[in-house]
Amino acid sequence: MSHVLTLNAGSSSLKFGFFRLNGTVEDPDPRIVGSIERIGAGERAHIKAKRQDGFVLIDQEFGRNHVPDHDTALARAVEFLKEQRPQAKLDAVGHRVVHGGPDYDEPVELTQTVMDRLAQFEPLAPLHQPHNLAGARAALKLFPEAVQLACFDTAFHRNHPWVNDTFAIPRKYYDQGVRRYGFHGLSYQYISETLHQIAPHLHMGRTVVAHLGNGASMCGLMGGRSVASTMGFSALDGLPMGTRCGQLDPGVLLYMLMNEGMTPAEIEDELYRKSGLLGLSGLSNDMRTLEAAGTEEARQAIDYFVFRIRRELGGLVAALGGISTMVFCGGIGENSALIREKVCAGMGWIGMELDETRNMRNERIISTDFSRVRILIIPTDEEIVIARAARDMLARRAEAAA
Ligand code: AMP
Repeated sequence: MSHVLTLNAGSSSLKFGFFRLNGTVEDPDPRIVGSIERIGAGERAHIKAKRQDGFVLIDQEFGRNHVPDHDTALARAVEFLKEQRPQAKLDAVGHRVVHGGPDYDEPVELTQTVMDRLAQFEPLAPLHQPHNLAGARAALKLFPEAVQLACFDTAFHRNHPWVNDTFAIPRKYYDQGVRRYGFHGLSYQYISETLHQIAPHLHMGRTVVAHLGNGASMCGLMGGRSVASTMGFSALDGLPMGTRCGQLDPGVLLYMLMNEGMTPAEIEDELYRKSGLLGLSGLSNDMRTLEAAGTEEARQAIDYFVFRIRRELGGLVAALGGISTMVFCGGIGENSALIREKVCAGMGWIGMELDETRNMRNERIISTDFSRVRILIIPTDEEIVIARAARDMLARRAEAAA
């Protein structure tokens, strides 16, 4: 029996998934999914993991400083998995890597040459790429026998038309890699594949997906392929997020630099960690907290979030030349009836009509029977996309060896 470990290393977290492969075609079977949060010196990290039926296997805090870095976090996760599945042999480790730069439009095996190339993209995603690669290095040491592969958040968007790939700045920057990459690609791939399974006629059409979580973006799909996305060069652009600003006039950066005398590191901190819903509400980055708060600032933060989603929706519909399906996913998209209702309100002019009851119940189809645009909720699953890529890579290698 083959097994796959999926790893998704964030700045202070490590998500892991343990899958069993049932052949080369069937979907990988998620046996255990979990995460270690608050990795870092001086922190008390926390491990949580569930079986596929929802049974909680562990929910425990470590002592202060017990998980100071990603190497240790991976070692702790592996210790836990070995306790749970002492006999299981790992055949592949699939890594979520945020940036594949201009090179990669599909998963790739992590050889030393590929690792070196991916390290060159660190300046393009300074807050994510180094952690992703640290996770990969740690796994390469721990599992030298397993096939290791990288699955990129940018890959799904690599075939955008040129006008959606560039900025109007001197051309030399495009050649240096300053492009509109787009992110959340594993999530959009999952939605595209799921649409293909559950409604192939909708998959063929024009779809706008709103991935609304702590990170948020939207993507326009034509025939299941990404045509345009709200995120650009970095994971800052487009929609406002939990703590990130979203679309911003670059003149604001100049103002911060020249008038406020801020350093690049201070600006980075302001835009990545102190802006978005947190910055506007002065209260929280968490939508549940804002919905419950009832303060004027919390309401305004929600209003801005919704306003930007509606603007981007209009822009994506124009880029696609129409819309047949709208999909909500991510923690907010999947769970917040209020946000979905506000986004869809008065959108009859593009054929969107929300069914109030279905929306309140978080049903799969939340449009009315008469709505020209189908509005759906599809819970996203980035881990299974990585596990499928690992399954396919193992199958190709077995075929090549036969
Ligand atoms: P994610 O990053 O996809 O895990 O999404 C996290 C976001 O989803 C946070 O802002 C949560 O507050 C939000 N969220 C989760 N459940 C709900 C809910 N029932 N209502 C509103 N927001 C929610």
